[in-house]
Amino acid sequence: MVYNPIIDSKGAVSESECPSLRQYRTPLHSNCSDAVQGKRTVPAYSAFLYVENNKGKTGEISMANVTEIFGSMVFDDKKMQERLPRITYKSLKKTVKNGDPLDISVANAVANAMKDWAVEMGCTHYTHWFQPMTGVTAEKHDSFIFPTEGGGIIMEFSGKELIKGEPDASSFPSGGIRATFEARGYTTWDPTSPAFVRDKTLYIPTAFCSYTGEVLDKKTPLLRSMERLSSVAVDVLHLLGKSDVTRVTTTVGPEQEYFLIDKTMYDKRPDLIYTGRTLFGCPAPKGQELEDHYFGSIKTRVSAFMNELDEELWKLGVFAKTKHNEVAPSQHELAPIFETSNIATDHNELTMEVMKKVAERHGLVCLLHEKPFAGVNGSGKHNNWSISTNTGENLLDPGKTPENNLQFQLFLAAIVKAVHEYQDLLRLTVASAGNDHRLGANEAPPAIISMYLGDDLGALVDSIVNGTEYKRRSGSDMQTKVDVLPDFKKDSSDRNRTSPFAFTGNKFEFRALGSSLNIACPNYMLNTIVAEELSEFYAELKDADNLEEAIKAVVKKTFTEHQNIIFNGDNYSEQWVAEAEKRGLCNYRSLPEAMPHYVDRKNIDLFEKNGILNESEIHARYEIELETYSKQIRIEALTMVDMAEKNITPAVISFVKEMTDAALAKKALSSSVSVYAETELVSELSDNLESFVKKTAELKAAAAKINGISDSLEQAKYCRETVFSLMGELRTLGDAMEQKTSAEYWPYPSYGEILFGV
Ligand code: ADP
Ligand code: MG
Repeated sequence: MVYNPIIDSKGAVSESECPSLRQYRTPLHSNCSDAVQGKRTVPAYSAFLYVENNKGKTGEISMANVTEIFGSMVFDDKKMQERLPRITYKSLKKTVKNGDPLDISVANAVANAMKDWAVEMGCTHYTHWFQPMTGVTAEKHDSFIFPTEGGGIIMEFSGKELIKGEPDASSFPSGGIRATFEARGYTTWDPTSPAFVRDKTLYIPTAFCSYTGEVLDKKTPLLRSMERLSSVAVDVLHLLGKSDVTRVTTTVGPEQEYFLIDKTMYDKRPDLIYTGRTLFGCPAPKGQELEDHYFGSIKTRVSAFMNELDEELWKLGVFAKTKHNEVAPSQHELAPIFETSNIATDHNELTMEVMKKVAERHGLVCLLHEKPFAGVNGSGKHNNWSISTNTGENLLDPGKTPENNLQFQLFLAAIVKAVHEYQDLLRLTVASAGNDHRLGANEAPPAIISMYLGDDLGALVDSIVNGTEYKRRSGSDMQTKVDVLPDFKKDSSDRNRTSPFAFTGNKFEFRALGSSLNIACPNYMLNTIVAEELSEFYAELKDADNLEEAIKAVVKKTFTEHQNIIFNGDNYSEQWVAEAEKRGLCNYRSLPEAMPHYVDRKNIDLFEKNGILNESEIHARYEIELETYSKQIRIEALTMVDMAEKNITPAVISFVKEMTDAALAKKALSSSVSVYAETELVSELSDNLESFVKKTAELKAAAAKINGISDSLEQAKYCRETVFSLMGELRTLGDAMEQKTSAEYWPYPSYGEILFGV
């Protein structure tokens, strides 16, 4: 199947017959740390890291061991090759490669081989694993058992069961596409993403659609967009004379941020349990201001978690590569080596699930919410994205002389135009109740979508627009001015950490994603909008008499018309907000502002024309996003009311009573003794509590109205404008009381205890 990408030294991905194990033996790609690039192989390097991290600990893993465990839980190409008759194997590869229909005899053979392997691995069950519109993965487990005549059983798995599953679709969000009584839904095997074993179950990645064929998941549009981009990019490359290119693949490396907190603290916080974030909590005296956590030395307990996480992920064939502490206390990051968009998506979903499970085994909880704690950074996910050919060329690599590289210029122009024309889609694909806390909050890029090209490419675009000579602006030697330290070549551009969509050498980094997001959606948006622009370019160029001149003209026209989307400055600054407005760029601050653009005519046309989603499927997605948003805000509001009424208010009343009793007792002893402290506290807290109780009632009443609003956009707007605002006001009052109430009385662990408790 299992069409596994090979990552070669140019950073390109080519379709190959190599299984994960061999994949793993290929040299590091160009984006890995320069120092090791091409010199060490991935397994050696990973093993080296692992051994370094495990020095002195029990259960030390040897180098041989890491290469052995990598992919051991995956039914990869190598295993398939070993276990399938040659002819079946070849026929399957052809199906995957050319999209030919799958022969049932082939499916039967594959299913049987998969089952035998899974049973050897201790499995009793299999599951079609899919990604419905809930944003999390879904699975329904069936055992392999099949009754025999004598009342016994055998373990069986047929091609039919491999290809098609039928989970009840009625309880998954369909955005009105389906009525509840229309329950049939199908899962279909995705042979481009390998099956794997977890918890004694064989997991089979699948796509999910309804009885009548509507797409109900995130994987299908992603696969379609990859194919669409491939076909138009191949057309363009053939026009440019690259007739050996038969396939173009998008690749993704998602950097995943997360928090790790102690489970005992988590268990005491209903807000974390129900909503994934703290709804109350006054700041600890120390936050992230010393910047001592970022890249700081990793604590023993966290390190043990990270080591086990790496090991689990490696077994599942995930290229977990980089790990470090992030900016906020208790915040960390894991980055994998990139893969094709489809596998990267499956692997990112898997990574998030494994993170949560492994954390549990260490008495920890992994928080993937975008903003678990106010006042310190939230968590995002950087979606590194590029396009490569089957011949091993990264199409976003500018090469040594980008000024002469018309192919690169053309692809860059397509991306610039795509991001400019479809900023709204890119913005709304990262919108969520959680991510609304981050975008524009000085820790993540703003809600305004723009692109960073860096000095060199910026100069290139300027020279093309103005018809002037291109002068490279950077790329000089770095002199350390210390004899024992080697000098080295600098990268050709600095980084701009504030840009939502930044060019980083040979890929773009889409930085606006929230940490919990399924990356399928932003990636099918990206693939689709770029495919659209490339197809327009192709139509314009295909009959040109002088192709070179025609390309130059298209590139110049595109850069001239769309340079407004390029911004190399500080995206966090106030000036940029004003400047962006002048440039006519969108600034949608929240989900209810962004989401209506999903169903703008131009966007529906885009998806329909490129065969990704039809109009009713887009409407469904729009409805689901709005409904999910309102539901989340409602749960948050109800949780706050619950915490306020059942715990915070009673706690403050008890504390006030204790202070009052203390004052009265003192006065009974002697009327001249000072009761200043008690009276001050009692009076301040009583005033505060009165406002708090009134605000709680207000929030409760507001939340009660949410479900009465039938229009989903109106409902979401109401949630944002009224309910969410009231939540903020209630929190301010609650946090002020926490500051003044004895810790003994306060019903919840404090920020200090949670953030510095691991
Ligand atoms: P950062 O400095 O942004 O934290 P990292 O090196 O941690 O960068 O992560 C960069 C990510 O980009 C990695 O996941 C890497 O695999 C990915 N990447 C590198 N080259 C490509 C490419 N051609 N396509 C997609 N992703 C890539
Ligand atoms: Mg990054």
